Parts: sequence; C-alpha cells; structure tokens
Amino acid sequence: MALNLILFGPPAAGKGTQAKRLVEMRGMIQLSTGDMLRAAIAEGAEIGQRCKTIMDAGHLVPDNIVIALIELKLDEAEQAGGAIFDGFPRTLAQAQALDDMLERRGGRIDQVIRLKVDEDKLIARVTKRFEEQGRPDDNPETFVTRLEAYGAQTAPLLPYYAEQGKLSEIDGMGSVETVAAQIDAILDQ
Ligand code: ADP
Repeated sequence: MALNLILFGPPAAGKGTQAKRLVEMRGMIQLSTGDMLRAAIAEGAEIGQRCKTIMDAGHLVPDNIVIALIELKLDEAEQAGGAIFDGFPRTLAQAQALDDMLERRGGRIDQVIRLKVDEDKLIARVTKRFEEQGRPDDNPETFVTRLEAYGAQTAPLLPYYAEQGKLSEIDGMGSVETVAAQIDAILDQ
C-alpha cells in the first residue's frame, strides 16, 4: 500500500528539508510544486514565465497549473510507494482535486503533518535564506505577502483534513533532527 503524506505549514517552515530527508530514508517521492514551477521557469517554458511574475510577487499561481503538474507525477509516485506532498495543496480547490485524482487511482491521502511555527521567527529564517540563496520571493516584503497568502488561502485547509481525522500537528521550531524525529514517530505508528 502506498503511503501519501502532506507536509503542511507556512512558507519556509521546513517542509522541503523534511521531505528530502524522508526521500532518503524511506524511498518516497517528493512532489514539490514550488520546485516543479522553478524547473519550468529554468527550462524557459512560456507557462514558466507567466508563473514567475506571480511567484516573484508572492502570490499563488492558478490552481489548474499546479494540479496539472501534480497529476503528471502521480503514476511515478504510486510506483515509488507513495508521495510526500510539499507545498501542495495550497487551496481548497487543490485539495479536492488531489483527493479526486488519488481516488481515481484507488489511493488516498493518509496523513497530513502540520509543522507549527512561529511566523515572526520565520521572517528571520527567510531573510537569512535570501542572503544565502537569493531566491527573489524570499525578500522580506514578498515573504510577508506569501505569509498572507498562506493565512488566507492555505490555512483554511486545516479543518478540511482535521474533519477527516488525518491531521497531526508537530512543533516545527526545533532543530531539523528534532522535527524529523516527530515526523518519524507519526509515520511509524
Ligand atoms: P515555500 O514553501 O517556501 O512558500 P514554494 O517553493 O513551495 O515555497 O513555493 C514558491 C511559490 O510557488 C509560491 O509562493 C507560489 O507562488 C508558487 N506555488 C508553489 N506551489 C503552489 C501551489 N500549490 N499553488 C499555488 N502556487 C504555488
């Protein structure tokens, strides 16, 4: 049986770091729509250019684009024994589309793990990442817009998964290892 996991939390909460660790430790596949969009931009695809403007402003790209990107990867994920969804779904429409796509394949979301973080401390984290990596949307003003998008469009998904009994919450402010240990404990239950 495939295990499908959503890592949930605001931008820069550490979802990508934890997803990459799970890929190494458990052989699962990481499906990061942010990475997929950045790859589309790097390839010079026209759709990438359209998305870049939106991303650089800190807003969400249209649902149909990210849903299509995810759908392209679901067969591969199934073969790998499941996926870690990182940065997707970010809206209720995306969550419902994901449920439909998985159901058509006889699958489901098994777990949603929310990394609870202190948003004020995230700004410091991201400012450092901006200085080190220079991702345009990590500049402090744009990051505030991304946090607002999370609050307005993504955080409302929490009740959707809580009502399905799939939501676990962990403290995301500890070290990478401490957060990883909490995720492992949930997955090994
Ligand atoms: P972070 O998790 O740090 O916010 P991501 O790499 O996941 O960064 O996303 C970067 C940007 O890509 C987002 O701000 C948004 O513009 C776009 N994006 C990524 N995933 C989605 C999604 N599921 N729906 C809409 N936009 C997305």
